[in-house]
Amino acid sequence: MSMNRRDFLKTAAAGSGMLLASQAMPAGAAMPKELPPEAVGILYDATLCIGCKSCMVNCKKYNSEPEGALHSSRRISPPYEFSTPERIWDDPHDLSGKTLNIIKAYKNGTGATKDVAENGYSFVKQHCLHCITPACVSVCPVGALRKDPSNGVVYYVENRCIGCRYCLLACPFRIPRYEWDTAFPQVRKCQLCRHRYAEGKYSACCEFCPTGASIFGKVADLRKEAEKRLTLKTGDQYDFPLQTVGSKDKSRRTVSKYINHIYGMKEAGGTQYMLLAGVPFELLGFDKNIRNDEFFPDFTWAYISKIPAVIATVLIGGAATWAFTKGKNKDKEK
Ligand code: SF4
Ligand code: SF4
Ligand code: SF4
Repeated sequence: MSMNRRDFLKTAAAGSGMLLASQAMPAGAAMPKELPPEAVGILYDATLCIGCKSCMVNCKKYNSEPEGALHSSRRISPPYEFSTPERIWDDPHDLSGKTLNIIKAYKNGTGATKDVAENGYSFVKQHCLHCITPACVSVCPVGALRKDPSNGVVYYVENRCIGCRYCLLACPFRIPRYEWDTAFPQVRKCQLCRHRYAEGKYSACCEFCPTGASIFGKVADLRKEAEKRLTLKTGDQYDFPLQTVGSKDKSRRTVSKYINHIYGMKEAGGTQYMLLAGVPFELLGFDKNIRNDEFFPDFTWAYISKIPAVIATVLIGGAATWAFTKGKNKDKEK
């Protein structure tokens, strides 16, 4: 297809106009700063976690279903980290384009005592925190990442994504991952199993957690449950709910010593995934520089908003250079 000078200049001007117009609609400025009315989430209690990884296995299994966060029509089996026709070896060490949820271990010294920082160990579960004001959503120039206004789940619209990967840079928790090794890469992250809600189901990691370490529910109820646990006396018995926060199914366990902090109550403006633990969160891989009640889109927008102007300038400059060079060449030919 050939393009004459007029077409080229028109295309460059239209492109620049669209980019500048998008600057006039700052997604970050319109982000909610309050919990959505029907906000759902997860409470993870590291003191109850036995590191069995059932949550990881079932996360991968159920998210490979149609509409799941790992689904691809180009694949028939779940995306394992290593697979050959002869064997499958799925041993993820971190989040990736194939793994949305990971259990990691902390160990210090002898590692003898669970949920203790010195000479102890702890497990920790990492996945998208479903921020109340998500930086990833605020920087996406095409609306491929969105926050459900009702339940607050931060989800991905595959066919809108242009692969710019701003979301990877913007997320303060370094959660979204890219499918670097596929021909048609997508961004991948936990979507709180929203594809299962229509069937009355909920997050697979909570449904298949045998100890109640991960429980699903309304964020308001999860916050109350987390606050209650922090008032319990170490060594007392408590009936921990299994699978969901309001569940009648309970597991009676001895209360461990908690760090007096609910991670996700205030970090980055608050999140819908919250954590309790016996070991300080910075030792469990959470950045202690993420400050409370700071809305990251307020920062990221300051930078991202400049990008359309820069690209527009480059396009217009390129168009002018192209027109000038073409004119000069024509003169030469004559
Ligand atoms: S944790 Fe990161 S990917 Fe998840 S909602 Fe927050 S900013 Fe987005
Ligand atoms: S909510 Fe669903 S997608 Fe998210 S970590 Fe749990 S199982 Fe995985
Ligand atoms: S399924 Fe529950 S107990 Fe097992 S690793 Fe996951 S969170 Fe921990």
